[in-house]
Amino acid sequence: MNKQTIVIIGGGITGLSAAYYLQKAIREKDLPYQVRLVEASSRVGGKINTLKRDGFIIERGADSMIARKKPGVKLVEELGLKDEMIRNGTGQSYILVQGKLHKMPKGAFMGVPKQIGPFLRSGLVSPTGKIRALLDLVKAKGPEQPDQSLGSLLRRRFGNELVDNEIEPLLSGIYSGDIDEMSLMATFPNFYQLEQKYGSLIKGLKQTVPNPPKTTGKTPGAFFSFKDGLQTIVDKLVEKLDENTILLDSIVDHIEKKDTGYHVLLDSGDVIKAVSVITTTPHQTLPKMFSQFNFLKPFDDVPASSVANVAMAFDQSAIKQDIDGTGFVVSRNSDFRITACTWTHKKWPSCTPEGKALIRCYVGRPHDQEVVDLPDEELVQLVLNDLNKTMNITAEPEFSVISRWKNIMPQYTVGHIERIEKARQEASEQLPGVYFAGSSFEGVGIPDCIDQAEKAVHQVIDFLQT
Ligand code: FAD
Repeated sequence: MNKQTIVIIGGGITGLSAAYYLQKAIREKDLPYQVRLVEASSRVGGKINTLKRDGFIIERGADSMIARKKPGVKLVEELGLKDEMIRNGTGQSYILVQGKLHKMPKGAFMGVPKQIGPFLRSGLVSPTGKIRALLDLVKAKGPEQPDQSLGSLLRRRFGNELVDNEIEPLLSGIYSGDIDEMSLMATFPNFYQLEQKYGSLIKGLKQTVPNPPKTTGKTPGAFFSFKDGLQTIVDKLVEKLDENTILLDSIVDHIEKKDTGYHVLLDSGDVIKAVSVITTTPHQTLPKMFSQFNFLKPFDDVPASSVANVAMAFDQSAIKQDIDGTGFVVSRNSDFRITACTWTHKKWPSCTPEGKALIRCYVGRPHDQEVVDLPDEELVQLVLNDLNKTMNITAEPEFSVISRWKNIMPQYTVGHIERIEKARQEASEQLPGVYFAGSSFEGVGIPDCIDQAEKAVHQVIDFLQT
């Protein structure tokens, strides 16, 4: 029987999960369709990319998945990878403010205080800054509005000092963006809801975010990876897909709407005829792919930032001032160009050979994007100089691995949700059977991408069965 084709564009975690869930549904429902996944590069995995070198397991892109978000864990269990999972080592983490490492205060959610005691004892904010932050308890709530920047709500409630010294370094790291430009509703809508309901974020968080259980033993880490690194989930998904599902080294140039569906045109000149399409590529690719349709043009103006990480391997003896903990994030008002540092050998001990240390640092603040393009040697020296302001490292790294991610971190700027809804609404009218998923849309975290993939698959099946 000649099967009709559903095309998935992009072979990152979103595209691979979509292909997996789609083939599962096709098998279970005995549907007459086949799946083709088209990937531009010569490998799948996208921003998940694990490198093995000299006994080290080095994540060039994403480092772990958060265990609290169910779609990730569900897929891992379904793929039979539960025994491969490892949890991060827990320990003290720090915030570096104006050159000094401060312990991350307890009793806070994303840097926003939930318990007053630990906040008052923390050295991160001056007494005046603390008084200003506590005005959150009495300040009138802001007006109802469809969206605003994350920074504007936080600065209004807590003042600048707490935001700059504690909250911003944590939040901007997740999105590699500027909290003063990020959409509140696309990133932390609960902050808006808590302000509206309780008139105070501190009161709202106290009411709604439970304190971690008091245990005498070690609590398991909040994140997980796999013994062989995050690439494990990518490899397993590939193994589960039907033969010949994936087409590597094939860029989708554009997509033409036809009476019977879509023609997916590849850079090779080949054409795949599709009855339905799921795109999982970054938002910047969409206006060109669907150039016949003006409604996707606004995605040309949505920014995407760049970051680089530098992983450096040392003999443990080279680190003279070893700090007990798993790493630190850096506040913008510090004279540092690194934005975060993970002591990977402590966070993921099984990924580093005995007696060795692996330190992974990020660069690429929103207003320091040019650092990502520095030549390798300069970048390593810059990172080492910054590290030596807090740790005494007496040797050059045994080796270093630099990973540059250019124009790749989608920025959920103010109005993001409205922009996405509008594009989806137009697509449902003008491009029936085409669905958009992936990190440019509803969440950058891997579990969010898996969730979007599963939802897009339901939409495709519903579309084809009606
Ligand atoms: P991608 O992984 O970007 O995949 C898209 C694919 O589409 C790519 O393979 C690309 O080659 C392909 N493509 C592009 N254009 C075309 C075309 N025209 N035709 C065909 N194919 C095309 N998330 C976490 O949960 N935990 C973390 O620890 C974490 N750390 C991160 C660290 C870094 C450095 C980065 C960059 C991201 C991190 N993230 C993390 C975010 C997370 O990794 C990504 O949001 C997620 O992996 C994105 O998956 P995706 O499938 O949507 O997109």
